[in-house]
Amino acid sequence: TRNLIVLGFAVFALFGALVFMFINAQRERELAQRQAGFLANITHELKTPLAVMQAAGENISDGRVTDGNRLRTYGDHIYEEAIRLRKMIEKLLDVARVDAGQNVVELAPFQLDEIAENVYRSSKDFVESKGFRFEINTGGKVPFVMVDADHVETILKNLIENAVKYSSDEKYILIDVRNLNGSVAVSVTDKGDGIPKKSQKLIFEKFYRVEGDLTVKTKGHGLGLAIVKNLVEMNGGNISLESTPVKGSTFTITFPVLVQEMGSSEAAKRTG
Ligand code: ADP
Repeated sequence: TRNLIVLGFAVFALFGALVFMFINAQRERELAQRQAGFLANITHELKTPLAVMQAAGENISDGRVTDGNRLRTYGDHIYEEAIRLRKMIEKLLDVARVDAGQNVVELAPFQLDEIAENVYRSSKDFVESKGFRFEINTGGKVPFVMVDADHVETILKNLIENAVKYSSDEKYILIDVRNLNGSVAVSVTDKGDGIPKKSQKLIFEKFYRVEGDLTVKTKGHGLGLAIVKNLVEMNGGNISLESTPVKGSTFTITFPVLVQEMGSSEAAKRTG
């Protein structure tokens, strides 16, 4: 019987290893497929603005366009397409840096309510111009955390941008900053399309996009949340998601508090 038990274990282990290998191979295949789709899309998207800029530039330098108004229109085209290109290239470089492990993090003590307020103020015009009601709730000062403020801004901007992109009916976004026990949380809530349960883990993977009407209509490459997750983790934080299809989503990032702030009685004892 002992031999039988050993044999049983061996068969079980072999079976487990096979299942593991199969799942791994499947995931790699999926990633390769997404990557190929991404390359096709990005090639098209990089070439289109370049073609517009080249044609507009040619017309101007040939001396074919001399009328002031038309010159301005061509100038606008070149300017807008250049901005689009720059944004796309910045995103690609972000991903390349993440892949190469070359992202530098400069940690310093910050209060997340201040960073969130900054992001709120700088995104307000854009978000409201898209027809959204946009609110922030900080409930006063929160304890210091060690983060790279630029990274936290990038994270929040990405989450807000997504909330705008994936809200087709109710247009509402709330940034909420809370002091939890030993950590500070910032969440971005929308009342948009939500994310199906089976996609919730996958959306943080590179190139993954939820299939659906809106994803087809909305531009994107499935890179934003991969960058976000990487930045959160580089800053020693955590990201979580609660989402219900049609009702909306809440993305929450948390960072550990730098030092336990002194209670007021303790502070009084020290000063008194
Ligand atoms: P992108 O927006 O470029 O596709 P992201 O990595 O930022 O890439 O997001 C991945 C996918 O997750 C999106 O394609 C979308 O399907 C889904 N998603 C992200 N944020 C939201 C949100 N706030 N509401 C609904 N779906 C979202």
